[in-house]
Amino acid sequence: MTGHQYWNPKNETLSRDELHQLQLAKLKRLVAYSTERSAFHRGKIDEAGVTADSLTSIDDLQKIPFTTRDEWMESQERSPMFGDLLARPREDAIRYHLTSGTSGRNPLRVLDSRRDWQWISECWAYGFWAAGVRPTDTVFFAFSYGSFIGFWGAHYCCERMGSLVIPSGNMTTDMRVRQIADMKVSTVCATPTYALRLAQAASEQGIDLVTSAVDKVIVSGEPAGSIPETKALIERQWGAKCFDTAGMTELGTICMFECSHQPGGMHIIEDHYIEEVIDPTTGNPADYGERGERVVTSFGRGMIPVLRYKTRDLVVKVPHHRCSCGRTFDVYEGGIQGRVDDMLLIRGTNVYPRAIESIVRSFPTIDEFQILVETINNVDELTVRVEMKPETGVTFSDIERELVEDLKEHHEMLRMNVAQAETGSLPRFELKAKRVVDQRSTKA
Ligand SMILES: [Zn+2]
Repeated sequence: MTGHQYWNPKNETLSRDELHQLQLAKLKRLVAYSTERSAFHRGKIDEAGVTADSLTSIDDLQKIPFTTRDEWMESQERSPMFGDLLARPREDAIRYHLTSGTSGRNPLRVLDSRRDWQWISECWAYGFWAAGVRPTDTVFFAFSYGSFIGFWGAHYCCERMGSLVIPSGNMTTDMRVRQIADMKVSTVCATPTYALRLAQAASEQGIDLVTSAVDKVIVSGEPAGSIPETKALIERQWGAKCFDTAGMTELGTICMFECSHQPGGMHIIEDHYIEEVIDPTTGNPADYGERGERVVTSFGRGMIPVLRYKTRDLVVKVPHHRCSCGRTFDVYEGGIQGRVDDMLLIRGTNVYPRAIESIVRSFPTIDEFQILVETINNVDELTVRVEMKPETGVTFSDIERELVEDLKEHHEMLRMNVAQAETGSLPRFELKAKRVVDQRSTKA
């Protein structure tokens, strides 16, 4: 792929010094713009005594206060509907979206202008091009096209590249699988969980995805896209390469993508963002290789400037040379490794749902699973409930012992229970799987 490997060959291969200069110039513009136009940011930046001129190196970013989701929410409640983050009048917007609110909280509301949408699709284009999507591709979006921003920007990125787009908001899972086969789709976009659900539906209908035209599955929306075992399962079931991307509604688009070299993580789009990693407790910067919370400053969204937003995502940043593709963008090893708030404290041991998923997915005969946490006789008990694939002929008792041992071994010998769930009894997810059910009386 010489010469055509990068969407933005110049910016994707800048030296680190040049990249930092570009980031500094953009940061100064962002600070000037935000203090002039957004009451929310003006208050915080003024209070910190920062001006655009006072920023002389990229490290000066740390003088700017963090932004939290709670502050954003308070701002919306103080001045409905959108709060005082907005840097442009509502009339400049052409679309309204809101966060999916899976955790039962109030949603955050966002507006984007025409120019914002161009930028949103530009960021997606870095990722789609890196995964090998070209104008000759037929791209299927297994996506609802609803109020959740999800793949909307990816749709526009494909239009912009000239790929043929097939939307499927109104289709059932079975209809989607038939369309993918009939239309000779080459690229499928879905959440990792739903990519597996589509593969299951295909096998039930006797459609062989491995010999189909699909050679790329691009996933987003859940951390699972970078869990090696889940990814390997998707690749095996689809006979295609699986590429992860990650973004969030608060930022409008993706901030990172996996390139065709699949380095075991995602490149950060560093000419459009500054991504910091901090210790979630102290707020101090984490070094390369240390797990911490990602904090994002975004340069592209005109309606909603974002400065040092604490995402609650857990990541580990490693230098760009971890990947051999030639991009100078640093890499988040293992993608989004979970959420700061997802960590479960079980009898004194930290348990991450992601770690459980990677073990469960190494058992190909398990179909779906759920993590149930309860208090029994004043003790926290964690049970992994699994649904077997009946067609494999392997029963729960065949794998029970090995599963228990694997879970224990990866969690400092913490005992976990396993139980069989009836076929089809566990919830299936199209968006943002929610597999942890925490019924404890006190959540430590
Ligand atoms: Zn790469």
